Amino acid sequence: QAKLAGKHCYRFYSRAMDQAVGRRMQMESDLRGAWERGELSLDYQPIYQLADGHIVGAEALLRWKHPEHGMIPPSVFIDVAEQSGLIDLLGRAVIARACEDAARWVGADDDEEAPFIAVNVSARQLRSGDLPEVVAAALADSGLPPGRLHVELTETTILGDEIQAGALLARLRGTGVRVWLDDFGTGFSGLSHLRRVPVDGVKIDRSFVTDVLRDPDDLALTSAIIAMAHSLGITVVAEGVESEGQHDILRERGCDLAQGFWLARPMSAEAMRQLCRAGLRGYDAEPRLDTGSY
Ligand code: C2E
Ligand code: MG
Ligand code: MG
Ligand code: MG
Repeated sequence: QAKLAGKHCYRFYSRAMDQAVGRRMQMESDLRGAWERGELSLDYQPIYQLADGHIVGAEALLRWKHPEHGMIPPSVFIDVAEQSGLIDLLGRAVIARACEDAARWVGADDDEEAPFIAVNVSARQLRSGDLPEVVAAALADSGLPPGRLHVELTETTILGDEIQAGALLARLRGTGVRVWLDDFGTGFSGLSHLRRVPVDGVKIDRSFVTDVLRDPDDLALTSAIIAMAHSLGITVVAEGVESEGQHDILRERGCDLAQGFWLARPMSAEAMRQLCRAGLRGYDAEPRLDTGSY
């Protein structure tokens, strides 16, 4: 299309493209060593049990505070880390740090189970094949029991590679680590994946939750996912719960767990630790927590 518009225009587009490529390369070089320089950190977003409002876990979310450009969202830099291969080292560091942090989370009540930590794992990390070893090392170093580590994968991560991914995930689950399917419902063949890939739970994508009160189709799909998951004996988390109404209808429909800004924003490891110590109570007992800085 640029070519059709004439030579002048073509040059403009190619220069814009050079800039995009240049920016990407710059970001890649900035990202190299960013963990060691302390620019990257993990925030934790609590995950609540809908039946009683208790915190049962948290998701680790990577944050990059660039010295010049400020906060850069993972939706921008994870992709760069993935394509450049930096994700291998970064991913290890994330798993190790998340396990270390979570090992310090204990409830005020001894009978209460300590919360799990859910870590996002990208396609390349899974494909590198040594994920079970990386995970085993992180668990051994931190002393975190395997059952308290959850790994989140998206449908696209396992797409086209279901047999191999399935074998790897089975190995992981054999050690006691739980596996979750993230952004569930956005792929085209979510149901058939569940036949081939052994998982412990699914996270209903935010896009369904957003309109669950307004759009009957989204409510129907959400309810269907919950029913299907339960018939397979797996747990359901709703992500992106931003209002009380969404929360109430998800609870009413039997969704097991939920996370979202209405419940709690992502927060520092220390804030998460304190929240756990405060008694593992969630939104029913305490006013809304808003310790995030975003
Ligand atoms: P995700 O795994 O689906 O994570 C959930 C995202 O939804 C997070 O965005 C979280 O901050 C956001 N969120 C939670 N509650 C709400 C809500 O109520 N409303 C809205 N609008 N958003 C909400 P974040 O932190 O920007 O992360 C984006 C994605 O980046 C993640 O999606 C995940 O795919 C990826 N990511 C983050 N950290 C890591 C990591 O350590 N490793 C890898 N491989 N990917 C990561
Ligand atoms: Mg996730
Ligand atoms: Mg998600
Ligand atoms: Mg997502």
